[in-house]
Amino acid sequence: MSTAGNRRTLRRAVAGCAAVLSLALACACGAAQGAQPTAQAGAGTTAGSSASTGSSTDPGHGPSSSPSSGPSSSPSSSPSSSGTHPGPPAPSRGPTTAGTPAPGPSRTPSSPATTAAAPIPAPDQPGTSIVYSTAAGPADGRTVALTFDDGPGPATGQILDLLAQYGAKATFCEIGPQAAANPALVQRILADGHRLCDHTVHHPQPMHTLPHDRQVYEVTAAKDMIVQAGGPGTQVSWFRAPGGDFSADNRQIAVQDGMRPLGWTVDTRDWSRPGADRILATAKQELHPGGIILMHDGGGDRSQTVAALAQLLPWLVQQGYTFAFPAV
Ligand SMILES: [Zn+2]
Repeated sequence: MSTAGNRRTLRRAVAGCAAVLSLALACACGAAQGAQPTAQAGAGTTAGSSASTGSSTDPGHGPSSSPSSGPSSSPSSSPSSSGTHPGPPAPSRGPTTAGTPAPGPSRTPSSPATTAAAPIPAPDQPGTSIVYSTAAGPADGRTVALTFDDGPGPATGQILDLLAQYGAKATFCEIGPQAAANPALVQRILADGHRLCDHTVHHPQPMHTLPHDRQVYEVTAAKDMIVQAGGPGTQVSWFRAPGGDFSADNRQIAVQDGMRPLGWTVDTRDWSRPGADRILATAKQELHPGGIILMHDGGGDRSQTVAALAQLLPWLVQQGYTFAFPAV
C-alpha cells in the first residue's frame, strides 16, 4: 500500500501539473477572489460593487489569496466544486515546452535560494496593485472591460464573431499551452483589436503556495508562449492569477515581466454553467461603470457563455456602455 502510495505521490509530482491543469482549468478563474477586494485597487478608482459580488463562491483556495490585498475571500469555501466541473479542454501541452511536465526552472531569474512555500512578503510597490477598473475608470462614464479566461479554445471564434458584430473590444487571459496550440486564434484576437493577458502555464490553484521559482515559471513561460503564438511584437499587458489567487510574490513577478495584475469586478460564474440567463443577469446586476467582467472562452463547454454574451453585448450598447481595456 505504502508503495503504491509512494508511487502515486511520485507520479503526481512528476506528471502533476497536467492533471492539475485539467481540474483547475475546469473550475477556472471565477473560483474566488481575484475579484475586487477592498477597494484601494489599482487606478485609485473603485468600481464599487463589492458588496454584492458573487461572494457565494465555493471553489475557494484554502487560505486567502493575497497577503496584502485584502480580505476578499471567504475562507470557508470548499474546493469541491472544482472537481465536478466540466471537462477541461484537451490537456494540450505547450509545444515548445513539451516533454517537461514539471515546470522546469529553465528560466529562473537569479533569486531562488531556499524559497519554500512561503511567499516572499515583498513590499507592496505601487505598480503591483491589482487593476479593478477600466483605464478610463468610472469617472468617465459608462465604460466596461470584458475579459475572457482560460482560452483560446473552441468557443473563442464564436466569441470573436460576437464581439466584432458589436464593435466590442475585450481582453483575453490565456493559458500558455492553449495559446501555443491555437496560434491562429491568438493572431485573430490581435488582428481584431483585442488585447492579451497572461493566465499561467498550468493554471495552478492555489498558486500562491507554489515555490517562488515555480511561480516565476508559470508567469514568464506562459507569457513567452503567448508572445510566440501571437507573433513578433505581441504585447501581453496583464497577468491574472488563476482563481484570482494573487500574492505579493506573483504580482511582483508579473510586474517584473512587464505585466499588471488584473482582477475583476463582476464574476459571472459562467464556468459553473448556471445557465445563460443567469450569467446575463449576474452581469447586468453587478456591473457598474468602469467595471471589469469576467467570463471564459476556455476550460470546457462555453455555449452558455456564448449565448449570454449574445444578449449582453446589445444590452451594454443599449445602456450606453463603451468597451474599454483594463487600466495598465
Ligand atoms: Zn482561469
